[in-house]
Amino acid sequence: MTDPAKHVSHWIGGQPWAGAAERHGDIYDPATGEVTGTVDFASAAVVDDAVASAAKAFPGWRAASLARRASVLFAFRELLAKRTDELAALISAEHGKVAGDAAGEVARGLEVVEFACGIPHLLKGGFSENVSTGVDAYSIRQPLGVVAGITPFNFPAMVPMWMFPLAIACGNTFVLKPSEKDPSASLLLARLWAEAGLPDGVFNVVQGDKVAVDALLGHPDVRAVSFVGSTPIARYVYETGTRAGKRVQALGGAKNHMVVLPDADLDLAADAAVSAGFGSAGERCMAVSVLVAVGQVGDELVAKITERVARLRVGPGADERSEMGPLVTGAHRDKVASYLDSGVADGATLAVDGRAHPIIGGESEGFWLGPSVLDHVAPGNSAYDDEIFGPVLSVARVDTYAEAVELVNNSPYGNGTAVFTNDGGAARRFVSEIQVGMVGVNVPIPVPMAFYSFGGWKNSLFGDTHMHGTEGVHFYTRGKVVTSRWLDPSHGGVNLGFPVNA
Ligand code: NAD
Repeated sequence: MTDPAKHVSHWIGGQPWAGAAERHGDIYDPATGEVTGTVDFASAAVVDDAVASAAKAFPGWRAASLARRASVLFAFRELLAKRTDELAALISAEHGKVAGDAAGEVARGLEVVEFACGIPHLLKGGFSENVSTGVDAYSIRQPLGVVAGITPFNFPAMVPMWMFPLAIACGNTFVLKPSEKDPSASLLLARLWAEAGLPDGVFNVVQGDKVAVDALLGHPDVRAVSFVGSTPIARYVYETGTRAGKRVQALGGAKNHMVVLPDADLDLAADAAVSAGFGSAGERCMAVSVLVAVGQVGDELVAKITERVARLRVGPGADERSEMGPLVTGAHRDKVASYLDSGVADGATLAVDGRAHPIIGGESEGFWLGPSVLDHVAPGNSAYDDEIFGPVLSVARVDTYAEAVELVNNSPYGNGTAVFTNDGGAARRFVSEIQVGMVGVNVPIPVPMAFYSFGGWKNSLFGDTHMHGTEGVHFYTRGKVVTSRWLDPSHGGVNLGFPVNA
């Protein structure tokens, strides 16, 4: 049962915000279409308070020893592992994804926390003795100060955890602005941090919309911004933030192609395409949205996919029978469904119409759309050109490997891609030639583990640094190199020349 009186607000200075918001939004249960609560929208003044609280906490947290920071992270990790089901249920109730999938996103976020537990090792610098006679040099990395994270609706726990575990481990203090569509997960995460012993003000949450985002982007005390969301907003955040002198990494949208070569195992490829196309109702930035059938495999592949799609169980996220839930909002469902008509108008054939798919528990006012397959899709078709971000798998057919690579490389996006083949040489060539940030070989959703970095190319990422892994550590720190000499008998008087190693 959802609590009709649910009221979600900010978390500032180690406690829930007690003020009265001037603006707020509705929170929905996507499976029923009912409003289950409200979320406060932060004003610029509330964002100021959150940033002030983070700025106040920074000197103390920055001075905390690496051993202490690591011990707080370990405690947070334990709490998160214990409360995974609770967090997953909160996500499922507001996002709509099935509970097992929500638990999966928590698990992938947890891996970043585990990576961040190794911060004493990750922040080790270099040391060179005697770079000149009697002179030593060493490098250190220091935190930036207050940093902000702005995150999308589709992973309300995992994407924030791509950011804050490392930011905090590196000694920064953090202000999170989660999606207004599924805001509750952020508050449970804040409570777990408090329970883990994180000092007040190190982790803060402001709920809201563009007003909160703009206040963070314009705030002089915010040193860096991590953003994940759609491409137009990512570009806006990158341009606005960097213009204000901030370090920004802004991950945008995607159109991920899965290329199936003629020698591939077509059952494996069909399983993979259905799993990666319809998991989380296609609302994943790494979802496969275009299947590229090379050579003669198109008809057989579409037949195998159609068979599998018909068996998918679509229903409420909380129902254990469901494999795929509803979409996040009614407006998004309508927009996704509109591509079934516009795709056909632009020349595709509708191989599977998800509007007719049965829903477990019967049709309600929920934001339902079953899995759909559009065949014979090509550039110039809106279903190919736009990021649909829903349960619509497009199939494009090409004659050769070279045409497949050209198709992928001409896409304005470059988040993820995969090749399915049993030919090692072809796979190796694909990995080398493809202009995409994350590549799978017989792996349809190649999301890097926490100790590698996550990020796309082209319009899928604005900025230079990917998230988590060592690039995450670099993003949240600044390098400093120290050259030191202690007086000894070789100290040699005044020298106006540029320091060179004699
Ligand atoms: P979105 O861009 O609408 O929202 C993302 C964040 O920006 C939210 O916090 C939102 O409140 C804020 N926002 C929305 N409009 C804004 C505006 N005009 N000005 C300032 N801030 C604004 O994205 P979404 O619909 O929540 O998430 C889905 C999108 O995120 C998809 O495009 C998906 O591909 C992308 N995504 C990308 C990745 C990645 O790693 N590249 C990961 C997850 C999601």
